[in-house]
Amino acid sequence: MSNPTSTNVDMLIVGGGFAGLYQLYSARKLGLTARLLEAGDGIGGTWFWNRYPGARCDVESLDYSYSFSEALQQEWDWTERYATQGEILRYINHVADRFELRPDIQLHTRVSAATYDDDARRWTTVAQSGERFDSQYLILATGCLSIPQAPKFAGLDTFKGNWYHSANWPTEGVDFSGKKVGLIGTGSSGVQMTPLIAAQAEHLTVFQRTANYSVPAQNEPLDTVTLDTVKANYAHRRALGREAMTGQFLNANDKSALEVTDAERLAEFEFRWRGAGGGFRMLRAFSDLLRNPQANRFAAEFARSKIRQIVHDPAVAELLSPKDDLPFGTKRLCVDTDYYETFNRDNVALVDVKADPIVEITPNGLRTTAQTYQLDALVFATGFDAMTGALLAIDIHGVEGESLREKWSGGPRTYLGVSIAGFPNLFVIAGPGSPSVLSNMVHSIETHVDWISNLIRQTRADGITRIDAQQPAEDRWVGHVNEAADKTLYPIGNSWYVGANMPGKPRVFMPYVAGVPAYRRIIEDVAAKGYEGFSLS
Ligand code: NAP
Repeated sequence: MSNPTSTNVDMLIVGGGFAGLYQLYSARKLGLTARLLEAGDGIGGTWFWNRYPGARCDVESLDYSYSFSEALQQEWDWTERYATQGEILRYINHVADRFELRPDIQLHTRVSAATYDDDARRWTTVAQSGERFDSQYLILATGCLSIPQAPKFAGLDTFKGNWYHSANWPTEGVDFSGKKVGLIGTGSSGVQMTPLIAAQAEHLTVFQRTANYSVPAQNEPLDTVTLDTVKANYAHRRALGREAMTGQFLNANDKSALEVTDAERLAEFEFRWRGAGGGFRMLRAFSDLLRNPQANRFAAEFARSKIRQIVHDPAVAELLSPKDDLPFGTKRLCVDTDYYETFNRDNVALVDVKADPIVEITPNGLRTTAQTYQLDALVFATGFDAMTGALLAIDIHGVEGESLREKWSGGPRTYLGVSIAGFPNLFVIAGPGSPSVLSNMVHSIETHVDWISNLIRQTRADGITRIDAQQPAEDRWVGHVNEAADKTLYPIGNSWYVGANMPGKPRVFMPYVAGVPAYRRIIEDVAAKGYEGFSLS
């Protein structure tokens, strides 16, 4: 029985980014009533919140876009190879308008709890405001990087200047002109904003704890010839993406780094570092780059040689060079424009806060064990409680009141990265245990939403009202996800992929590493076998 004081819909969707919007569009196609709840005061998810200077996607715009509508992909003109945050946000808003999604989107609504009623076979979801929603299906499209890791530095409340987090940037922007700025964090966000803040501020101090690898994006404007060529056969580009490891064509080389000569290896790395490549193409330079330690060391050393070539001061170059305990690409590779070059500017300094840790924020800046720094503004690019953070921020209870927080206390457990045993009719889009953040997210989102939609279409036709993953199937999947990760070098890196950035988080490699094509074949096979591993009743 549905609750008369709640909003009743067939499907409740939490999150208004790429995943939530496409899920809403697909729910409508299925003839379901649906409501999408979004915490922010605008849609866009990641691209709504992360407005820091230099924010842009590290997947090419022609791939990081919906493929479900030929008309949409024909009418939208991306202006750059890697789109800015602003352009992606305009695109998302265009999609919402074009497909008239807004009437079913409710902004300013942060979900705090969701409880399954096994008699009614429905979910009751509660927002922070107390508003209640009753639905047969609950879709968590909450994103993998949507709970910013709040800085917990002592003394922050005494700081006289303004401070900002990359993922909660003021809509009106920030003017750093004439200011001494301190930036903490050198992951993708910090690396992207460094050149822009340096160009504006009087002085920028970058506080680096761990050097990460960064490869130039080789960004460029997209001219009409390029756009027309892609659009003339967009299906071809999408098909190449579907069969590529990460859901985007990166011209993967199937040779081992060990089977070529030194000169050939160098030429391949150069090719991928320069204009013909850039960004994640570097990870596909050799088939064993992320599996074989020696192959990986070649890439790491190549990247370090580039840093030494670019950065004039050898001591700064050494500090910017990732060390051997971080294999190349095992922490998400950064994709930059002029990052290393920025350290040649007179108004930029690099501070090693591993050797000399931050002790506290002071009213006028920051103090490390050895030094004090006078700063007018502070920027935290300190990352996120990744992959599980947004899911566990909701107090979710499944069959017999089982708590998701308890179930996942040792790390996330899913069946196929999309379903959780004991939590029927609940689906996670691009969640832990799926290719997710290791892939072109828009591609993986479409894969999941289409798969969930087919499951719902078929089960509704069969009169099935309860869809639950079986515990043994989930256990086998978790084992398989771990086995796949253990065949690679990924688990070695102290990254947010393993939760290493969050003190106390269980160390589990969360995404599924075997690639988009292998994953799709598995989930298609599960569907073909009548949704093997699910209890349907
Ligand atoms: P991140 O990769 O987790 O980097 C956080 C940085 O903050 C790290 O350098 C970390 O150092 C540092 N840090 C955290 N706490 C610290 C502390 N207490 N003291 C000193 N340093 C501290 O976060 P992010 O840069 O926001 O990126 C997260 C992910 O978002 C990326 O990996 C990517 O997937 C996505 N993203 C993508 C783009 C893009 O598409 N181009 C842009 C931005 C973000 P340690 O390494 O030592 O922990």
